[in-house]
Amino acid sequence: MRLVLLGPPGAGKGTQAHRLADRFGIPLIATGDIFRNNVERDTVLGREARRYMDAGELVPDEVVVAMVVGALEAAPDGFILDGFPRNLAQAEALETELERTEQPLSAALAFSIRDDTAVKRLVGRRTCTTCQRTYNLALHPPKVGGVCDVCGGRLEQRQDDREDTVRRRLEIYHESTEPLIGFYAGRDLLRTVDAEGSEAEVADRAERAVGLVTGGQGPPARA
Ligand code: AMP
Repeated sequence: MRLVLLGPPGAGKGTQAHRLADRFGIPLIATGDIFRNNVERDTVLGREARRYMDAGELVPDEVVVAMVVGALEAAPDGFILDGFPRNLAQAEALETELERTEQPLSAALAFSIRDDTAVKRLVGRRTCTTCQRTYNLALHPPKVGGVCDVCGGRLEQRQDDREDTVRRRLEIYHESTEPLIGFYAGRDLLRTVDAEGSEAEVADRAERAVGLVTGGQGPPARA
């Protein structure tokens, strides 16, 4: 299974990506997580990416594409891509790379939510600095304040989850990433998932969309 997840920040893609990766037993390649990990470790890549991330802007394509191509080499048996591609140039670069390795995508899952839901979710979001799992102070709080339920890591508000940055990220999503819905629809790879509602409801819809549960949109076009 080779999946791309699309959707605005706050759609819950990260959470659903972890669930799907566990269900399929395939690696999750989450570009935002890779960047944050590099920022934490203060690597050259982290220092480069941070300037863009803190402002809610996109990291330059050549940096992201090189990083993803490297990660794909380590995932010969399938993957879930979360946060990539973010624009047409990245989608085309991914397509070229997957054609080169003869590993076509199985599907692109597009999660949809209203902008006001996204803002509410993101501003209350807290992220584990160790395993990157996310919580929401109102909707899905951790059992112990400030501590990850799963790994015991420290929870923080991401710099880019502050309200003005969230609004800028949504603008960029509508401008640059949303057109990819048409890109993948044109290739008959698009599966849409309504991402309003609880985590469990969205998980159920996502599983139907990729054919893990019968009665959904059916199995992806290409396995
Ligand atoms: P995310 O966790 O996916 O919301 O990503 C956090 C930040 O990392 C984004 O706001 C961008 O600054 C950067 N980033 C992640 N993925 C990409 C990408 N595919 N292209 C450019 N920048 C990215």
